Amino acid sequence: MKIENSLIENYNYMSCIFCEIIKGNVPCYKVYEDETCLAFLDIRPASQGHTLVLPKEHWENFEAIDNETLSKVMVVVKKIGQAIKAGLGVEGYNIVVNNNAVAGQIVPHLHFHIIPRKSGDGLEPWPQGEYKTGEAEEILEKIKIG
Ligand code: AMP
Ligand code: ZN
Repeated sequence: MKIENSLIENYNYMSCIFCEIIKGNVPCYKVYEDETCLAFLDIRPASQGHTLVLPKEHWENFEAIDNETLSKVMVVVKKIGQAIKAGLGVEGYNIVVNNNAVAGQIVPHLHFHIIPRKSGDGLEPWPQGEYKTGEAEEILEKIKIG
């Protein structure tokens, strides 16, 4: 690895707010912790109970993390979703990953947002577009696997 790249990675790691929370240097409202994951309340909640679930290791995004750790994080996401539904009496929740800056990722440490939802809460996630004739087939050719 080039020295410049390693410096950039170290800089990201050292300046990562979520790593600081994991180390206990920055406080959080902890919802759950085990040896792999931490979950805490988002400080700027989209709705009451908005929770972030993350691996304790610093992985920058969804593609970077190894599958074994990812699986453990996903199990915790499911567990927290159940706790939110039971505890807050909400009808459902969104599970969101903002993957890369263009998608709205501000903190470069992979995290899952769990956003409690109630009908009529106005938190519609994105507009619904459409495909013109032939466009869906064109896109499919570019991304389909196998
Ligand atoms: P994202 O845009 O997906 O990177 O989301 C980052 C989230 O982290 C935002 O929703 C912030 O409100 C949240 N956040 C940033 N700093 C903290 C903090 N110290 N404690 C809790 N949540 C935070
Ligand atoms: Zn980090």
